[in-house]
Amino acid sequence: MIQMQQTMEQTQTRETTQTYLDNSATTRVCTEAAQAALRAMTEEYGNPSSLHSMGMEAEKLVTQARKSLVKLLGGNGELVFTSGATESNNLALFGAAEAGKRRGNRIVISAVEHPSVAETALALEKQGFSVIRIPPRPDGNFCAEDFTAAVDDQTILLSCMMVNNETGARLPVEKIADATKRINPDTIIHIDAVQAFGKIPFSADKAGFDLVSISGHKIYAPKGVGGLYIRKGIRILPRTYGGGQERGLRPGTESVPLIAAFAAAAECCHSEMQKKNAEYEMLNRMLRERLKDMPAICINSPEGAVPYILNLSVSGIRSEIMLHYLEQAGIYVSSGSACSKGAASPVLTAMNLPRDRADSALRISFGRYNIPADICRLTERLEEGITRLAKRR
Ligand code: PMP
Repeated sequence: MIQMQQTMEQTQTRETTQTYLDNSATTRVCTEAAQAALRAMTEEYGNPSSLHSMGMEAEKLVTQARKSLVKLLGGNGELVFTSGATESNNLALFGAAEAGKRRGNRIVISAVEHPSVAETALALEKQGFSVIRIPPRPDGNFCAEDFTAAVDDQTILLSCMMVNNETGARLPVEKIADATKRINPDTIIHIDAVQAFGKIPFSADKAGFDLVSISGHKIYAPKGVGGLYIRKGIRILPRTYGGGQERGLRPGTESVPLIAAFAAAAECCHSEMQKKNAEYEMLNRMLRERLKDMPAICINSPEGAVPYILNLSVSGIRSEIMLHYLEQAGIYVSSGSACSKGAASPVLTAMNLPRDRADSALRISFGRYNIPADICRLTERLEEGITRLAKRR
């Protein structure tokens, strides 16, 4: 344990030369999560399905983590552990579509969903489901009425993200869920809460969410663990078959270390949520203030976006060029979204941004370890980059 503490401290020292502003892509694992994982790997390492006491100890860890995460989600239902939100989203969409196909065949999603929802919806469309995609309004925000106008008595599933991973736009999911249930109470509401869980408060059951996807590595747990919350009384069908673990919805031996780490990290995030949000507000204000002096920059994040994500475009300089220029100074940001790997961002495209503006978009995302000096480093280097890179053109 002492050795681990030393390693974490060394990492912290090394980090002083790094300015990591890509926290929506992934985060550095927090000490609490790393220690929980280490304990589960080296001490309580039994298989939760084993009948002996070591198995029971491991099972206890999984049960405790599940209980803790369900509570933090504001729920009273079940949580199925998965390998990450991509799997949670696949399970939610395929599982709900399969369970609901006799009731109807319409699925409503937003036009800015993460590929793990968008591509799954496309696969369902190829199977014969009718998928309606709701675009943002020209300002980048969404209107609940646009979703509910698409809901009818054939709608079996509505899937919508809570916070957009590229722009930080907040989608009015509570309003959408409420209005959808009034039109068709049988419609299953799935919320991709990956960029919201542990960062902004919500209460799944109170809001009427039937399924909620979450991911560990966005909130300081290791990569490879996620969850799908399932409200009491909601039935979905499995995608994989095996030994019956996770209520048969996600069979396979549970990754106890990752699960324990996920719960530990989520507890930390929730306990500091208010304080961190105040800090993100401050960092966001500071960044916007400094950007005002740079006429080459325009902000793409819509009004009311979360404070921890800011999407901007640098006129005339392609995203990857500026991204690598910043990287040379140890500053790490994202071009649009880390998931789209250089492809034109479907989110910025859905917002109808001109192509050159979408091609020069950068996403800055704050996390728990960022400080005001990071903003100074970023803006100084951005300013320098705008002058130098523009000259090279
Ligand atoms: N949904 C959203 C909104 C995301 O931002 C991401 C990760 N970029 C995912 C789903 C997929 O999560 P994971 O990496 O855990 O598979």
